[in-house]
Amino acid sequence: MTFSRQRLRRTLIALSAATALATTPTAFAWSHLGHWLVGELAQPLLTPAAQQQVAQLLQGEPNPTLAGVASWADELRGSDAGLARKTAKWHYVDLDPERCDYQPPRDCPDGNCVIAAIDAQRQILADVAQPPEVRRDALKFLVHFIGDVHQPLHAGARHMAEGGDDAGGNKYQVSLRTAVAPPSYSAKRAAPGAPTPTNLHSVWDYYELESAILSPEKYANQLRQGGVAPISPEALGSPAVWAVESCKGIDAQGLYPRDEDGQWQHKLGGAYLDAKRPYAEAQIRTAAERLAAVLNQTLK
Ligand SMILES: [Zn+2]
Repeated sequence: MTFSRQRLRRTLIALSAATALATTPTAFAWSHLGHWLVGELAQPLLTPAAQQQVAQLLQGEPNPTLAGVASWADELRGSDAGLARKTAKWHYVDLDPERCDYQPPRDCPDGNCVIAAIDAQRQILADVAQPPEVRRDALKFLVHFIGDVHQPLHAGARHMAEGGDDAGGNKYQVSLRTAVAPPSYSAKRAAPGAPTPTNLHSVWDYYELESAILSPEKYANQLRQGGVAPISPEALGSPAVWAVESCKGIDAQGLYPRDEDGQWQHKLGGAYLDAKRPYAEAQIRTAAERLAAVLNQTLK
């Protein structure tokens, strides 16, 4: 099924209505666009066997494709508040970007982090003794969480190293000069011509990709031209490796900007978004390649 702007609009309207009911307006993930791109780029990399099982598992979904179900885990906040609460910590892991070392007891207590969630959902998906609807949800979780773990601010929080937890940039306030309208679920709106009040996490979840100003289909084609290819099982790595890699990107790519005096910079605009977008796009491509490889191995 092809994707349309119309559908995106409807989804966003539904999402905004759903999110208005939620109490905390915290950003949870790459935006709908980011997750959609990961699914869309991964789908053609599936083997025929995986393709067929994905179609079977997603039978009856309004949009039975990887892209079509990629944001389901975020939309749970509107459709199943209990499950959303239970799974809220499965979208991220807060590693310390000074070291980016992963210690499960410290960083993933009781398996409640994105690394353990990917492993757990993958096992459920692989288990053909599980009821089909349980495996279907595992597939939907996997598509989403493999996207999330490649959003660097879902894998670490810069200010943890300085004695405070900024919740993956959620508490790092940003005044953003951009032509991109805030997400429909955002309560914060700028006066006309004024910078948008937001935070660094939302810059990376939403504005970084949206500011490319491309339709989802055009964006997917452009990213494909940049190279999205199947990867071998040997090159796949593990969710812990991916999270450490994302965490290292926080400093290596200068996600937390400083001015000439070395002070944290909170006023950002097009120059920041344009400079960082190639990295964000590389992460989307890598997420898609890894998602396809995981599904190809799991759905043989
Ligand atoms: Zn998420």
